Amino acid sequence: MPFTSLGLAPELLRAVAEEGYEQPTPIQQEAIPLALAGRDLIGSAQTGTGKTAAFMLPILQRLANAGPKHVLRALILVPTRELAEQVLQSARVYGRHVRGVTAAAVYGGVGMEPQTKALRHGADIIVATPGRLLDHMERGHVDFSRLEVLVLDEADRMLDMGFAPDVRRILAALPDQRQTMLFSATVSPEVDALARRALDGHASVEIGRRATPAEGIEHVIVAVDKLQKRGVLAKILRAKPAGQTLVFTRTKYGADKLVTFLRKDGIPAHAIHGDKAQSHRTRTLDAFRSGAADVLVATDIAARGIDVDGIRMVVNFDVPNDPEVYVHRVGRTARAGARGLALTLISPDEWLLMGDIEKLIGQTFPREVIPGFEPSIKPLQPKPMAAEQPKPARSVRARVGGRRRR
Ligand code: AMP
Repeated sequence: MPFTSLGLAPELLRAVAEEGYEQPTPIQQEAIPLALAGRDLIGSAQTGTGKTAAFMLPILQRLANAGPKHVLRALILVPTRELAEQVLQSARVYGRHVRGVTAAAVYGGVGMEPQTKALRHGADIIVATPGRLLDHMERGHVDFSRLEVLVLDEADRMLDMGFAPDVRRILAALPDQRQTMLFSATVSPEVDALARRALDGHASVEIGRRATPAEGIEHVIVAVDKLQKRGVLAKILRAKPAGQTLVFTRTKYGADKLVTFLRKDGIPAHAIHGDKAQSHRTRTLDAFRSGAADVLVATDIAARGIDVDGIRMVVNFDVPNDPEVYVHRVGRTARAGARGLALTLISPDEWLLMGDIEKLIGQTFPREVIPGFEPSIKPLQPKPMAAEQPKPARSVRARVGGRRRR
């Protein structure tokens, strides 16, 4: 889909072309036509997806088209000064052929005075961190009476940084009649609650929203050092109950290495990934489907076509970088109302990635350690999330124990 089919004005298309963008990103394809139509949006999008242009281009178009000039009409709230500067820069770049629209940034750690001037002289677009904006509001520097658009960018980070009370006070000061767009890498229950408050009962469109995993999946994390992961996996597979297990690795090389290791250890695992011939993949999948092979090691891309009922356990040998990938992976188990186990082997360098996944899913997963494979660094115990029901902890060993295969 070309940029020209999104409904953007020629001066914006020109700026986009000068940036060298050839095609809109998926989030831009979804968001831009809706935003131009004035709809409220909740966008699930991480940095690097082109989300800034997705909201900035429609804002610039609205401000260029009609309405008063040099009064505050669009407010973009961001968690950090760095992001504020970056978003301001985007406004300048995408708006370089739009006449008469000005933008300014307002954030802490620098003098108030230049910002006060910008606010007083009427910037059309203000990019602000919540704390400093409140300071200016309390001093009477900000007039929201003509505000038309509010963007909450990186809403999850704003909440993480403790800005919820500030954001609520800002929301209370804004006109009800406005367009609201919220973007967040993960849409946790907390982000959802903020979105509901920001939208105040207005209908909104969700874009880029990730699927949530099935109810019947039990998520468990096993903390282990990187070099011990293979040993732990072998131990778990040896004790696993009947049924198929799908193991995910990030790379094809990793999948092959793992299969070689498991086979040496007496576990007849099979690998499936893009470097294998199609005939080999088909044969492996057939064997997996029929139950003749019960441990399959796959990369994310190869696993796309795997549609097998009866997968009891999904193992994340590597923690995926993108929380959405986690949801896709574990969605292979607990099909059609069945129960399944999603087990993630996590080394100390992967703790942060796991936090993002738990946030997306809105649960903290139990952490376990396998005796004999204790990690050199103790795993962090996260605080349970507000919306979550406490879960009784059962050990992985108790769960995957039972009959031995040999
Ligand atoms: P963002 O997700 O908004 O932080 O954008 C990430 C990067 O992608 C920025 O450096 C943008 O300049 C760039 N970008 C945004 N939209 C496009 C596009 N349609 N094609 C290529 N690059 C883009």
